[in-house]
Amino acid sequence: MRHVKIFDTTLRDGEQSPGCSMNLKEKIEMARQLERMRVDIIEAGFAISSQGDFLSVKTVAENVKECTVASLARADKKDIDRAWEAVNGAADPRIHLFIATSPLHMEHKLKMRPEAVLEQAAAMTAYAKKYCANVEFSAEDATRSDPGFLAKVIESAVAAGATTINLPDTVGYAMPEEYYAFLMRIQELAPSLGNVTLSTHCHNDLGLAAANSLAAVRAGADQVECTVNGIGERAGNAAMEEIVMSVATRRDYYQAETQIATTEIARSSGLLTRIIGVKVQPNKAIVGENAFAHEAGIHQPGMLQHRGTYEIMTPESVGLNKSNLVMGKHSGKHAFRDRVLSLGYELDDAELEIAFGKFKTLADKKKTVYDRDIEALVAKESVQVPRTYRLHSFVINSGSHITSTAVIKMTRDGRVVEKVSRGEGPIDAAFKAIEKIIGHSLALEDYQLGSVTEGEDALGDALVKIKSENGAVFSGRGLSTDVIEASICAYVNAVNKMIYAEKQAL
Ligand code: MN
Repeated sequence: MRHVKIFDTTLRDGEQSPGCSMNLKEKIEMARQLERMRVDIIEAGFAISSQGDFLSVKTVAENVKECTVASLARADKKDIDRAWEAVNGAADPRIHLFIATSPLHMEHKLKMRPEAVLEQAAAMTAYAKKYCANVEFSAEDATRSDPGFLAKVIESAVAAGATTINLPDTVGYAMPEEYYAFLMRIQELAPSLGNVTLSTHCHNDLGLAAANSLAAVRAGADQVECTVNGIGERAGNAAMEEIVMSVATRRDYYQAETQIATTEIARSSGLLTRIIGVKVQPNKAIVGENAFAHEAGIHQPGMLQHRGTYEIMTPESVGLNKSNLVMGKHSGKHAFRDRVLSLGYELDDAELEIAFGKFKTLADKKKTVYDRDIEALVAKESVQVPRTYRLHSFVINSGSHITSTAVIKMTRDGRVVEKVSRGEGPIDAAFKAIEKIIGHSLALEDYQLGSVTEGEDALGDALVKIKSENGAVFSGRGLSTDVIEASICAYVNAVNKMIYAEKQAL
């Protein structure tokens, strides 16, 4: 069986898309999960793009042991220096450099003649190679490049030491059969591709990112660049879960396999959703809420007789735990710890203590506590930024013929601050009171309220996105059986993330 490497770029291409930014702690948490899922390569960021990006690539590089860690760099000395500075602490570092090779990009973006691009590609690959044995070269906008010219660039990059050559469909323009033929032709024109890893990187502008990536695997690509939940620039990148489960489900067709622990897919998807606050559509393949739901009356009898009638892969294979063992207020710490472990979360004693306290509070309000409730509590605990502000208490007065008012008490460094505000409804009043307390003017970008499980006493799950005075967006989540409390906690969480980011930037 051929081994297809999974190159995850959730933290780079994914993170650079609007509304998907993550702070340092969140990136490390995500990187740890990617490592647990056994991706081959983690692209941790674009080191030169900002101090924050540099720091997160460096920290991920130093914390991840089982995966190769890459930083992106333009084909430029300063970029490559910075990329190497960020990844050199990794167990297996990689520099990923790129330059555009299509006429459109060379003329209008780079303002370089093709001969100069060819020279730059070779010289900068050689420059990166002096630092690092593992060098990936990407020909940006490869699918709209002249094949003859592209082949020359590839030949000289390989001669200069590139060990992986990536031929991306940067703008999501290719059709699967066309991309397959293109890659076959390029391999003929650039025979040195036979000595290195051929890689694919597809965007989903026409909804074909996964199809194109899989066509590339058929054409001989041994590395697929993708992101969890398919997040990324514009319509996104190829979704990792779709690539991995296609190869796993159709091994017969691809004659290939990945090393991904598929049972970690659901958790990876859920973790990313919680971090960035962007939900996947219910009918999204593999990780959507309905991906394994069988509602149609005519399907259900078949499913009951034999699951294979309508199920090509099992929910268990992607880590959806069907056994929903119920816990309640009589469950002890030992049972709770066992449950948390079996859900795959490792908490230290202090974290377990906090999570157990929250579980007890929840179990007092809610008859039955499901796995999803526990996951929501535990997962939130593990990516917590320092809590500069904490909610102390609140009183809300609201009704059909009165103006809503909120009295909010919060603590900052042990000091209690109280403010009162009026607003259009209870949530607005509460958010305005918090704004008064922190003394910043914040715009509310998004507000969503959902529930973790079904049922009347379900845990409310609030998502808030705020925009700071300098235009940065921060998301926060809050959980409570009281939806107003959940909303306030979400807002406070977003504020704490904003303060954390401001401190990081100093
Ligand atoms: Mn991309």
